[in-house]
Amino acid sequence: MGDSMAFLEIRRITKLFGGLTAVWELDMEVMEGRILGLIGPNGAGKSTVLNLIGGALKPSKGEVVFDGVTVTKLGTHQRARLGIARVFQENLLFNGFTALENVLVGFHLKAEINLFSSFIKTRSTRAEEEMLREKALETLAFVGLESHADGLSANLPHGSQRLLGLAIALATEPRLLLLDEPLTGMNAEEVQSMLAMIRTVREQKGITCIIIEHNLKALMGLVDGVTVLNFGKKIAEGTPGEIVENPAVMEAYLGTEEDVA
Ligand code: ADP
Ligand code: MG
Repeated sequence: MGDSMAFLEIRRITKLFGGLTAVWELDMEVMEGRILGLIGPNGAGKSTVLNLIGGALKPSKGEVVFDGVTVTKLGTHQRARLGIARVFQENLLFNGFTALENVLVGFHLKAEINLFSSFIKTRSTRAEEEMLREKALETLAFVGLESHADGLSANLPHGSQRLLGLAIALATEPRLLLLDEPLTGMNAEEVQSMLAMIRTVREQKGITCIIIEHNLKALMGLVDGVTVLNFGKKIAEGTPGEIVENPAVMEAYLGTEEDVA
């Protein structure tokens, strides 16, 4: 792809839920290797946009173009294979499984191999499973959960479950990572380690990130750029510095409990 072309392009996307307009004629671009923050009041359409990028939702109108490929009509598995991954919320972890097994599920999500095929132990799949196990351990080590590999994910502290959700997404070797409120419910220490982890993901793996987060103080210190939604429309975009000084953004947040900075 040419250098000037955006890594991810959202072209005039509209998403209607019945009579409700969740997203209206939205244009958005993300350059490769960047971390983009997506903010706006509750109900602004942020999660819907992330679902339209990840493929869980299809737009009513408009296109999603990823690395030059129009993915608008593709489902989540097909987009995962192209390199788009959504970070699991901890309530989506497989709680009867160990941390390692959860990451293995991540591989399967991309490969679209039926999970139960791993129980059919032919010689070739055993070799493959061993290789995947090694990769899963590496991924766990990357997020700092190596020592918890054989513990049940349900027994991990909240912050570690969130890191495991990230590890599952990383197991698919994504090029674009989608995070919906990754800091929710975390204590100050967990927030700092998740922020550091996201920076490491970008710096060491070069993964592009789109992050929805209403802890704006934390978000503004992490992202390169910010897009602001209100009532499904983009009302501002710019650097964190530009956004905190934008009167339209201030106004959108006025009268809500959320603070811009
Ligand atoms: P945000 O993440 O910014 O809080 P959402 O994208 O979740 O906002 O929601 C945007 C609007 O779309 C809200 O009014 C919400 O109630 C509505 N909405 C979201 N998902 C659905 C759905 N699956 N069916 C119907 N309405 C939905
Ligand atoms: Mg949301």
